[in-house]
Amino acid sequence: LSSAKIAIIGSQPNLEMALEKWRAHLGRENVILDAADLRAAETATYSTDVTVPAIVRPGNREEVQAVLRIANEYRIPVYPVSGGCNWGYGSRVPSASGSVLLDLGRMNRILDFNEDLAYITVEPGVTQQQVYAYLQERKSRLWMDATGASPQASLVGNAVERGFGHTPYGDHFSHVCGMEVVLPGGDVMETGFSRFEGARTGALHRWGVGAYLDGLFTQSNLGVVTRMSIWLMPAPEYFQAYFFSCDSAGGLSSIVEALRPLRLNGTLRSTVHIANDYKVLSGLQQYPWEEAGGRTPLPPEVMTRLRKKLHFGAWSASGGLYGTRVQVAESRRLLRAALAGKVNKLQFLDERKLRMAGRFSGLYRLVTGWDLSRALELVRPLFGLLQGVPTDQPLASTYWRKRTPPPAVMDPNQDGCGLLWCSPVAPADGAQTEELVALASETLLRYGFEPAISLTMITERSLACVISITYDRHVSGEDEKASACYRELLRRLTDEGFPCYRMTSQSSGGLKASPGYDHVMRSVKRTLDPNQILAPGRYQPPE
Ligand SMILES: Cc1cc2nc3c(=O)[nH]c(=O)nc-3n(C[C@H](O)[C@H](O)[C@H](O)COP(=O)(O)OP(=O)(O)OC[C@H]3O[C@@H](n4cnc5c(N)ncnc54)[C@H](O)[C@@H]3O)c2cc1C
Repeated sequence: LSSAKIAIIGSQPNLEMALEKWRAHLGRENVILDAADLRAAETATYSTDVTVPAIVRPGNREEVQAVLRIANEYRIPVYPVSGGCNWGYGSRVPSASGSVLLDLGRMNRILDFNEDLAYITVEPGVTQQQVYAYLQERKSRLWMDATGASPQASLVGNAVERGFGHTPYGDHFSHVCGMEVVLPGGDVMETGFSRFEGARTGALHRWGVGAYLDGLFTQSNLGVVTRMSIWLMPAPEYFQAYFFSCDSAGGLSSIVEALRPLRLNGTLRSTVHIANDYKVLSGLQQYPWEEAGGRTPLPPEVMTRLRKKLHFGAWSASGGLYGTRVQVAESRRLLRAALAGKVNKLQFLDERKLRMAGRFSGLYRLVTGWDLSRALELVRPLFGLLQGVPTDQPLASTYWRKRTPPPAVMDPNQDGCGLLWCSPVAPADGAQTEELVALASETLLRYGFEPAISLTMITERSLACVISITYDRHVSGEDEKASACYRELLRRLTDEGFPCYRMTSQSSGGLKASPGYDHVMRSVKRTLDPNQILAPGRYQPPE
């Protein structure tokens, strides 16, 4: 993908002067010019032509303010990252060439935590693993919500992208408030009640009083979030995971129709994750090069064989039931009734069953011939995610088309893993969901990629769909093919009424929207960032 066509404002002498001032404010060790580090920062899981002249690493909010003031003085664009794990959407690569990477990883303090009121306040560099470990250490009865991205991914980076996880708190931006933001000019503002000195409810009440501004600082280039309060979920008395599968490719519509009423009436409190066979297979193993005779995309007869051998359906789904034992039993009954006749397998799993299965897996294999321990290896991380336990297991799927196994320490950017994620939203309506899936499958297969698709019933009324274009960047021509496929997919989905909820760092320009919205956003950007120094082009309507 080519970078947003934004003129590089900073000239070389300006950059030199800015670097000198940043060194004075942050210390020499926090202004990085090492060629290998810069190349790494320019590398995503797809091709880009963006260059990064330097990386700056502020350690606190005052230093972020200084970085932005100096950036304005010398007209040097900067691009903020918190965890920098935005794989499939651009990794750490800035939206415009010539941008200095503003790496917030050093700002990794947990600023506040309240067990009774169930929230945590963090700086942007705080990772999923860090919060998980913090709660464990304190023997907290609270759960965080985790994404399937790495334990090293940040909470703030994900929330500002409006990402999602798996528990009842899975829609992340719906569970945050009290943000501190450094504006592009270097001034600070706080949102909600946090702006009133001494207010006791900054971390507790989302709306505050007056215009609600938090949304302006998500999926935008209007500020750098330096603090955020995130709500945590009280662990339920009882938790049970459910898994079901359907052997018929045409079964998706009736599954969605069956689940929607249960989401709407509160029986299912958490996101439901539905995946097609390609998505499941890429989670189980790498591309079956041998069975496919080296051909791509995966021949249908090979998929049929593998589905049988590895025991998964055309569609597979998972989710969690949370509550008292009685509540969970009732939800289980309602889910069973709703899915009767629509799925081939429906299983419920709790901690005790999981432990038992582990103990008897050898015996099970002897009797049935099926390697249950391998299945358990794959189920455990998912079972954990449904309870807010981060894992790096799903990251292995980025190595799908690679010919060597994923290394112990996975780095999809450096290892040449090709990954582009396109994320349209569908109504929670069976027929319309099938329409979207058909469009995506046809497009990807035509370009020679396996249409790995997941659909997450993120709210009661909508499904966030993630379509993965997964390939090997070391195979010549694949980068170009993947970019062309992504562009066509994005265009067709938007034309058919399924715009994406999230964009890659380099493809945010050119969104087709009503002129009113574009006009407001342009005015806000001009007011807050007249020199266009913060993440130029990121989610920005073209001038
Ligand atoms: C296998 C796999 C599984 C994944 N699973 C999920 C999933 O379940 N859910 C999901 O949502 N995503 C998922 N992802 C996508 C992605 O990896 C995550 O969203 C991840 O959390 C993003 O990385 P980060 O949190 O480190 O954010 P960053 O990379 O730091 O930032 C993301 C974006 O936000 C902006 N930003 C970051 N910090 C700030 C700030 N402080 N102020 C202003 N702007 C900021 C950045 O400019 C960037 O555009 C997955 C990816 C892979 C490869």
